[in-house]
This record gives sequence, C-alpha cells and structure tokens, in this order.
Amino acid sequence: MTINHGSLSYLDPVRAEPWASFVEQIDRVAPHLGDLARWVETLKHPKRILVVDVPIIRDDGTIAHYEGYRVQHNLSRGPGKGGVRFHPAVSLNEVMALAGWMTIKNAALGLPFGGAKGGVRIDPRTFSPAELERITRRYTSEIGIVIGPDKDIPAPDVGTSEQTMAWMMDTYSMNVGHTASGVVTGKPIALGGSLGRQEGTGRGVCIAAREAGIRMGVPISGARIVVQGFGNVGGVAARIFRENGARVIALQDAEATLANPAGIDIPAALAHVAAHGSLVGFTGATSVSDDDFWQLECEYFVPAALEGQVTLERARRMRARIIVEGANGPTTPAADDILHERGILVIPDVLANAGGVTVSYFEWVQDFSSFFWSEEEINDRLESIMVKAFDAIWLTAKERKVSIRTAAFIIACQRVLAAREQRGLYP
Ligand code: GLU
Repeated sequence: MTINHGSLSYLDPVRAEPWASFVEQIDRVAPHLGDLARWVETLKHPKRILVVDVPIIRDDGTIAHYEGYRVQHNLSRGPGKGGVRFHPAVSLNEVMALAGWMTIKNAALGLPFGGAKGGVRIDPRTFSPAELERITRRYTSEIGIVIGPDKDIPAPDVGTSEQTMAWMMDTYSMNVGHTASGVVTGKPIALGGSLGRQEGTGRGVCIAAREAGIRMGVPISGARIVVQGFGNVGGVAARIFRENGARVIALQDAEATLANPAGIDIPAALAHVAAHGSLVGFTGATSVSDDDFWQLECEYFVPAALEGQVTLERARRMRARIIVEGANGPTTPAADDILHERGILVIPDVLANAGGVTVSYFEWVQDFSSFFWSEEEINDRLESIMVKAFDAIWLTAKERKVSIRTAAFIIACQRVLAAREQRGLYP
C-alpha cells in the first residue's frame, strides 16, 4: 500500500499517521472548493518547519539531548497559533498534522490566526520540575527565532501546563529584553493569563455536544457519556456534563479504564487524580477491559486523549449516538466513513475542541490591550463564537450533504485559500 503523504520527501514513508490523515481530509474537501481548489495544494505543504536540538544537564550531571519541533503550517490569515506538546510519541509527522488541524480550526472559528504546533519528544513524567524547566527554557530559546506575539503564539497541549507557559514567556521575554506576555497563551493569571482559559477546551466540548444534541433530539440531561482521556479536556468536560444532568458512565486515562452504569462521581474522580496522578485505585467505578469500553452503549462518546484512537475496527463496534472529538485527530478517515455509514454523528475536533484556542485568542487580545475581562464576559463570548461557528458548519453540512467534518473543512479552507489568493504569490 502506498501512503499518501502529499509529495513531501522528508517524511518517513512507512509511518502513515497522522499527517496522512490530514492530507486525506484535505483531499476530501478539495472537490467542494470550486475555483479555490487550485490553491488547495498549499495546505499539503507546511509553510515552515523548525527541528531543534534541546540539550540539558540532567539532575545527575549527565548531558541529554531531546528533539523539539515548531511547525507553522499556514500563516495566510495571521500569526501562527497552536499548542506545545511534551509526549514520548511526538514526531515531526504528528506535529505537522497538529499544525494543519490548527489552521483549519482557527479558520473554521473565524479567529485571525494561522495554524502552528510544537512539541518535544519526552515523557514529562520522568523528569524533575527543575529538568522540565531547563527543557522548556532551552526549547523556547531554540524556537525563539520563529515565535513572538505577532509571529506565532504557543499554548499548552498534552503534557504542558500553565507552568510551562510561564517559563516560555519568561525565557522569550529575557531574550528580547522586555516583558512580552502575548508570546504565549494559557499562562497563569498573574502573568497576563485569561480567566476561563484552563476550562475553555472542556467547556467548548460541552457547548458543541449540546448544540448537536439540540439538533439530533439527544438532550445532555439524562444522557450517558463515555470519556476517553481525563486531563484538561476530558476532566473538565466530564465535570460540566455531569453538572448539566448527564451520567458519565465510563472513563479511561493512560493507566485505567473504569465504568459505573449509575454514573461516576466526577468531582471525586478528579480529586483522586489530583492526589494520585491517575485513575488507578479510584473506587467509585469498576475496572473494565478496553474492548468493553469501546463498545459501551451511550448517547455521547468523547475521545479526549490522543489522535488515531477511533480506528476502523473500533468504529465498527462503537454504540454511541454522537461522537464529540475533544482530542485532535482522534478519528481516522477510514473510521469516519464507517461511522457515517452507521449513522453515528461525529462533531469534529476542529469545531468541538476549539474552545481552548478561542479563549487563547481572548487572552492574546487582552494582553495586547492590557485590559482584562471578567470570567462571565469570557464565557459569554466563547458561547457566542462557538454557537455561531456550529450553526454555519451545520448549515453547510445540510446544504452540501456532507459530514460535519467536511463542512468545517469547506468553511475553513475557503477562508484560508481566499486569503492566499487575495494576497497572491510572492514574488
Ligand atoms: N492545544 C490546544 C488545541 O489543540 C490549544 C491551542 C491554543 O490555544 O493555541 O487547540
């Protein structure tokens, strides 16, 4: 089988995912773009890729080297925007796809950003806080030539946090000689962070689910919900779902898979994770197999972990009415087709998890104006941007008779490629 990577020679020809998934999604939208389709190839070519060496002295005195990346996939509509991931599976292929999804997400929501992403291939759990600080600062310094408040603005992603952003902001600021709060978002409030940012992604997932439920006749109140991933996205979403009367019947994190048909006490599960680092040992639910987890009957299934989780084989067995993608790229294109055939609605990542970057946009605007909004103001604005995007994407899906994902890609690609065309090619 040949893998469609586009025509990029620097990618491993054997490893397909997830850039190949992104390319496939772009190929699927191309026939819907009319005259703009002549520009579509641009989305299969990341604008700029930086691979950096991140050397540090470890606590035991040895010297270690790690590989870091920053990919700016497209800058036609504004500065790059997207998170930084610390995870042992980070690769150039993955960061390219994640950057591509940021281009689509930002355009689909109408945010004035291009798409970017970064990462360092490490398992952050195996480092001391002092080592993590050194890795973060050296990585920031290395990518300092391409980031900046009006160039490319990183944010947290899997394995990074407010603390990571504080170190990144400080390192960049020290290098440029003045405090530049707008260089990253997802910072602590004391450093120019925004109220509501930490919850933004999970809150947005719940808004997307609610909007889908209204149109499908599947109310959140009383719904059975399964959540894969119990971090900043899955944990917050599970809590808000429960506050809105849903029953979270199963949870999975990297170490445990648990179910309780009566509904899991989410605040208790969150407290357990805060104390012990994972769901292992949580007594408010019983352990189930991974196979059983994916086959649970539910109204909403929320993959909120890593990409490529909803595989063809799992898609054949899932018994959810609606999948709401909290993670980036959790569903493979082949699985998408099966879910479509089986009548399972998928609310795609580029819409469902856009609450995080939307509040990042608010943070960036607040930093520029040095004027800060109330949490209520943030949540109201998030709500209105998400609902407006949902409406437009839903309508396009109905009019064009395509999936919600393709509809989101149509709207986003039209915006990105119209900007590309109007700017013209230089020289
Ligand atoms: N990492 C988040 C995402 O994948 C947020 C990115 C941001 O706020 O820039 O959407």
